[in-house]
Parts: sequence; structure tokens; C-alpha cells
Amino acid sequence: MPDAPLHIKSLTLDELGARLTALGQPAYRAKQVMQWLYAKRAPSFAAMSDLPAALRTQLAAEFAFDDLQPVRTLGSKDTTLKYLFQLADGALIESVLIPASPALYGEASDRRTLCVSTQVGCAYGCKFCASGLDGWSRNLTAAEIVGQVLRVEELSRERINNIVFMGMGEPLANFAHLMRAIGIINAPWGVGLGARHITLSTSGLAPQIRELAEQPLQVRLAISLHGATDEVRSQIMPVNRKYPLAVLLEACAFYTQRKKQWLTFEYILIAGINDRPEDAAALVRVARKVKAKINCIPYNQVEGLEWQRPSNARQDAFMAVLTAARIPATLRREKGHDIAAACGQLRRQTLPPAATPATPAC
Ligand code: SAH
Ligand code: SF4
Repeated sequence: MPDAPLHIKSLTLDELGARLTALGQPAYRAKQVMQWLYAKRAPSFAAMSDLPAALRTQLAAEFAFDDLQPVRTLGSKDTTLKYLFQLADGALIESVLIPASPALYGEASDRRTLCVSTQVGCAYGCKFCASGLDGWSRNLTAAEIVGQVLRVEELSRERINNIVFMGMGEPLANFAHLMRAIGIINAPWGVGLGARHITLSTSGLAPQIRELAEQPLQVRLAISLHGATDEVRSQIMPVNRKYPLAVLLEACAFYTQRKKQWLTFEYILIAGINDRPEDAAALVRVARKVKAKINCIPYNQVEGLEWQRPSNARQDAFMAVLTAARIPATLRREKGHDIAAACGQLRRQTLPPAATPATPAC
């Protein structure tokens, strides 16, 4: 079987330059093509009007252009938007655009956050999360990751100024494609978003956390902790059996030392599972070992799962333990519940055959 064509949006400037030189083109053409892709947002090679027609034809023959077809957009009462995209092989993924909340960030905030998926499904099977319910089918390519940003900006006519890799999938299990995509999103010739406006979240893949610490980019890192003892964590996150807390926390400490950066520990509050006073005390002990602030999130209901969100009083009592211990901690009010777009509510989707959009021409 012939190899699938290389996707133009998976390439760095240098790589494209090398390929164009091999095709007998002058080096400056690569910059020109990148400008069309990321600054002018050309919809096709044909639209790159200052390139010679023969080159445009040649580019279309060499490279794939667009793999993400919008299928559906759902709007939440709170203005969160959830986009469903179909990929070239028919797989479906979701991205969520979350406008700034004046309550959280102040009236003047113009923060527009995009929550990006990195895999189709997820292999990690955390017991509280919708994304892993139907297993994993594949990694997204760099172009499919970058493509979510471009497509959502195009559809919403908004500039995204914050990206969180907290959609479907485990970002660090798709390390190479993710790093490539972040490089393109960050590059001045690419999307041009500063690394500090990019956060990735992991369920705790210790070796990849260490690998990330060695990367030059200063992206922010969030760890899905959700349990501060092995007993509690292993009960809800199977990954903890592979990388128990001691191993994970060592990797986290390595990261904070290397990067001179604080981490965020995400901690979902699930009634009767990890919200007891002794759980809060254990969390305090963990937080003292690593430079991390804690982000508590009341559990978001997932259809078909039994878990419950604790009462407000119980949430407040949990937070009070952290505050009393002077651990920097916040309780995050999530958005997009009514359209199942909040954290952990994205699940693998399938379409009835009639709803399948036509495959694009290029
Ligand atoms: N796989 C990565 C990133 C995607 S999940 C990770 O696990 O970190 C993004 C965030 O949503 C994680 O912190 C995850 O633990 C959280 N999450 C999953 N299910 C949730 C639920 N039902 N309610 C609230 N948060 C949830
Ligand atoms: Fe996968 Fe993250 Fe959901 Fe766990 S929480 S199943 S790692 S997407």
C-alpha cells in the first residue's frame, strides 16, 4: 500500500524548506507557504495566489491539505461551544471553546481557551471519565491537533489565546505528535501562541513527564492527581498501578526543578471516594513534596457512571483543610455541562451513515 501523503500542517518550516529544495524550489518558498497557511489561513494550495501555478499543483500532489471536517457545533447557555469534527478516516473528535468567565478572570478578561483532543478515545480507562469508556483507537497526527485550532478560529471567527490539552485522550501517550504540534502552534511562522498560554494535562505518565522536562518549551503542566494515596488513586485510575504515587511525584519534582516552574495538581472531588477529611490531609502531604498548586474540580456527571459530586458543604470542608495548611488551592467552576463539554464529558462519538459529510476534494 502506498504511504499516506504527508500532511502540510504536520511540517516545520525547516522540513518544508528541505522538501521544497528537493523539488528544485528556492528556499524562501517555504516561508511563503507557511504565511499562506497560518497568517492568511488559505483554504487550499490553489488559493496561494502568489505561488506559480505549477508549484501549487505540485504541492497539492505532494501534500495533504485538510483533514478536519466540521460536523456539528453545540452551543451552551454559558457560551461554551463544542465542535465535532470528522477526520479523513471517518473518526470523530471534539474540541471545546471556552470564553473567559468574568466571574473567574474579571470583566476585562478577553481569554478564549480552546480545549484540544490528542487521541481518538483513550486507553487509560480512568473510572470517572467518559473519554475512555469505549477504549482507544488511534493517536492524532500533528496536523489534526493543529487543525483543531485553525478550524475553531475559522468557525468561531475568534482568536484563541489559550490552549489546554484536556480534550479526549492522554497527551503524553502521543508524545512525538504532540511536541510537533506544540512546536507549530508556538512558532512565529506558525500559529504564534506563546508557550505559557499552552497547558497540557496528563494522568501521570512518569517517564514522559521526565522527557517533557528536557524539552526546551516552557509549556505549563497539569497532573490529574485525583487521589493522594495509592489506595484511593489506584481505585479510580488504573495508571496508578503502573506509575504509583512515589514514582509519579519523583517525576513531578524532577520537572519542577528542571523547568523552575510550578505544576498544577487537578483533583476531582467525587463523593465518598476522595473527598473525606483524611483525603484532604493526604493531599496536603503530597502538595508539600512538590511545588504545585491544587485545582479542585467538583465531579462532572457522566452518563452511565455512578459517581456523584459532593455537596457544596463537603466541597467547602475539603477546601478549608487545604487553606488551613496554606496550600495554594482553587475550586474550579466548570462550563459547558448542558452540552457535555465539561472536563471528562467528551466521549467517542459515532455518526449515523446519513449524517456523514462528503469527503473534501483536497
Ligand atoms: N488524559 C489527560 C487529559 C484529558 S482529561 C488527563 O487525564 O489529564 C482532562 C481533565 O478532565 C483531567 O484532569 C481529567 O482527570 C478530568 N476529568 C475526567 N473526567 C472528569 C469528570 N467526570 N469530571 C471532572 N473532571 C474530569
Ligand atoms: Fe484518559 Fe484522561 Fe479520561 Fe483518564 S481522565 S480516561 S487519561 S482522558
